[in-house]
Amino acid sequence: MSVSDIRDDGAGSGGLAHPSLCLSSSVNIHIRGAGVAGLCAALAFARRGAKVLISEKRPALAGNASWYAGGMLAPFCERESAEEVIERRGLESIGWWDGIGQDLVSHNGTLVVAPPRDQADLARFARMTNGHRLLDRQGVAELEPDLHDSFVKGLFYSDEAHMDPRLALEQVLSCLEELGGEIRFCSDLSMVGQCDLELDCRGMASPLPDRRGVRGEMLLLYAPDVRLTRTIRLLHPRIPLYVVPRANHHFMVGATMIESDHDGAITARSMMEFLNAAYALVPAFGEAQIIEAGIGVRPAFADNLPRLQYDKAQRTLSINGYYRHGYALGPLLAQAAVGWALDQHQDADFPVTSLSYLSPSSLNEVAQ
Ligand SMILES: Cc1cc2nc3c(=O)[nH]c(=O)nc-3n(C[C@H](O)[C@H](O)[C@H](O)COP(=O)(O)OP(=O)(O)OC[C@H]3O[C@@H](n4cnc5c(N)ncnc54)[C@H](O)[C@@H]3O)c2cc1C
Repeated sequence: MSVSDIRDDGAGSGGLAHPSLCLSSSVNIHIRGAGVAGLCAALAFARRGAKVLISEKRPALAGNASWYAGGMLAPFCERESAEEVIERRGLESIGWWDGIGQDLVSHNGTLVVAPPRDQADLARFARMTNGHRLLDRQGVAELEPDLHDSFVKGLFYSDEAHMDPRLALEQVLSCLEELGGEIRFCSDLSMVGQCDLELDCRGMASPLPDRRGVRGEMLLLYAPDVRLTRTIRLLHPRIPLYVVPRANHHFMVGATMIESDHDGAITARSMMEFLNAAYALVPAFGEAQIIEAGIGVRPAFADNLPRLQYDKAQRTLSINGYYRHGYALGPLLAQAAVGWALDQHQDADFPVTSLSYLSPSSLNEVAQ
């Protein structure tokens, strides 16, 4: 199949351009960006028989927003500040990640606690969310002995899950490679004109109108004396914090939410607040080693929901705006992209809309 075989449905009538790709011969999909957006989409297309090539500007799967994420799959807790689709569809994503690798996802749920003086915050969180059970002091301590005595109440979200996002990205890539998909690192060129469809999954690097950045700082701690086994969210009026356990006594502590696309190093204030809060949660964090301090900039639109947008002139489908929910929604948008491109089906929650990039000249020249 060549590019000339692509039919743009509705283009002539002013409707949304639609590439009706045909799988009777191999379809070439080129994807720019190997964050969670690009990798989920790559695997979804490869599973349908497409030939997939990813170009990633960085030398490895590291250093982007996806790398610094917490890896929480928390559709109920996120509902406190997110649209209802996150809760309604979030469990589907957990099932998708389960299929990526055995033992990748930990199904231990989420425990939400608040210091005794902030019980009103816990009550408000309970009102704003579903899928939880109220625990008393003993219930909290039974679930997480490290929290004994500190918290008089807790909310337990037993259906939530978490995973190590770095392992998740690596495992998606190996699933892709098993299907014949390829990745090229240190490569940032567009292949528009040389593939059937290009997907722009460049996160903050995509020149999209009305997309903003939300800076997120995090720490990775090694704390052999801490035994937490599930995501703990500590409600606090000034420093809400979560701790996500990883293998070998490592813990991800995060994350700030700063309306900025500045990607400079973590500030002293953020680090102090993280460490104070972690220490207040479990005093054994006082002996932790700081393994890493990272920052990622979350790409977000005004409604904090991701978008699938097709630029007919560039023959490019953009997947962007995951905000706090790259892992929680990545598989869903990947499926929606495949459904639109191969089956002419629109996902009611994540339809493909039309797009004009800010300036075609800001896109890289087509590779020669
Ligand atoms: C601290 C933190 C904690 C988070 N926690 C969670 C969580 O617990 N659960 C959850 O679901 N989400 C979480 N998120 C959100 C999630 O990480 C983001 O929504 C997601 O990573 C965005 O993915 P992306 O692929 O769009 O962007 P990115 O991960 O930034 O990937 C974009 C990729 O494009 C590449 N690129 C840029 N320019 C080019 C080019 N010209 N050519 C080729 N490649 C290019 C970049 O190098 C990068 O690898 C968190 C985010 C942060 C920062």
